[in-house]
Amino acid sequence: MAKAKLFPVTTVGSWTRPEWLIHALRRRQAGEISVEEFNRIADDAVLAAIKYQEDAGVDIVSDGETRRDNFYSFVVEKLSGMRLMKLSELLDYIKDRAGFEEILRGLDVPAFAIKSPIAVARVREREEGIAVDEARFLKAHTTRQTKMPIPGPYLLTRSSWFEGLSDQTYPTREDLAKDVVRILRREVIALKEMGVDFIQLDEPSISQVVYGDEAEQTFMCAALGSRSDPTTELEFAVRLVNEVVDGIDGVRFGVHVCRGNWSRKEDVLLKGNYGPLLPWLMRMNVAQLVLEMATPRAGEIEVFKEYRNEKEIGLGVANPRTDTIENPQQIVGRVKQMLKYFDPEKIFLNPDCGFGTFAERCVSTPEIAYRKLQAISEAAEILRREYA
Ligand SMILES: [Zn+2]
Repeated sequence: MAKAKLFPVTTVGSWTRPEWLIHALRRRQAGEISVEEFNRIADDAVLAAIKYQEDAGVDIVSDGETRRDNFYSFVVEKLSGMRLMKLSELLDYIKDRAGFEEILRGLDVPAFAIKSPIAVARVREREEGIAVDEARFLKAHTTRQTKMPIPGPYLLTRSSWFEGLSDQTYPTREDLAKDVVRILRREVIALKEMGVDFIQLDEPSISQVVYGDEAEQTFMCAALGSRSDPTTELEFAVRLVNEVVDGIDGVRFGVHVCRGNWSRKEDVLLKGNYGPLLPWLMRMNVAQLVLEMATPRAGEIEVFKEYRNEKEIGLGVANPRTDTIENPQQIVGRVKQMLKYFDPEKIFLNPDCGFGTFAERCVSTPEIAYRKLQAISEAAEILRREYA
């Protein structure tokens, strides 16, 4: 078997979606076209996303989450008992609506663009899980290694449980979490059996637990519902992730955390180094932490000192929210700083977060996203020559 390449290049998930795809997505959501018709249209967009990645030198490719409305809301199509609700609709269930709207405006949150899957009845799989169909198409159209991002159990539980809508079926979040864990466990086993190489559990809302303003109600990932103190939330997140992956070998698991990707206005997004999160992230039984590090908002890298080589790092080296293409030499410099805390075998290279995020409001264009991936691949080549 060939020796594994150092500094594998991969993406975090979403690719930008073309106008015609968003149009088709809306028609499907309005019931004007069937899922099959939509998928035929979306196939072309997925093929383009794969080709962009392959051409840019990406080693572990994804399907760009191209068929999804966003990285977690798409589960409404795959699970029964969920209803897709706009953030603006959910506002009706919030006590201090006016105050909350004010917060959303201040944070530049597109309340009409953000939708959340809300548990309104017992949540069950419809046919074959959440991402198995996506993975099958991806595997059929690339010979490279594959990555499937799926919503993590904490994200899904937290965004789906909503007082006034979910509590008749699930009196508490804990009750919903049991079904979420069961569904995700089946999912990751199915993806592994299909030969997916890398499963990324997206858990961006744990950032909000740590970096969000405690006094403010939050919206991140439409996690409008209650949140208790940070320690309780983080313990809950660790437990759920570990329940999902428990005893499953033969596939690489990663957990992705970012500071939000809903706006290009850096000053409204969450900031702070990973220090407060690392004690919990290190206890998650996954091989890799997929982290934003290109944005200065992710803070100092010295926080990894105490955790040298404990995990692999999926190092964010390009910012999807800017138009400037990162310079490969600068990326190399950044990786070299990280080599103080991680061996070369432990470092994967990726952009900070998805290039698409929300279908209605992509943070990048395909041309820019492509050039950013190319810059990462060039940096990886330089590093491989030096550290082979
Ligand atoms: Zn992200």
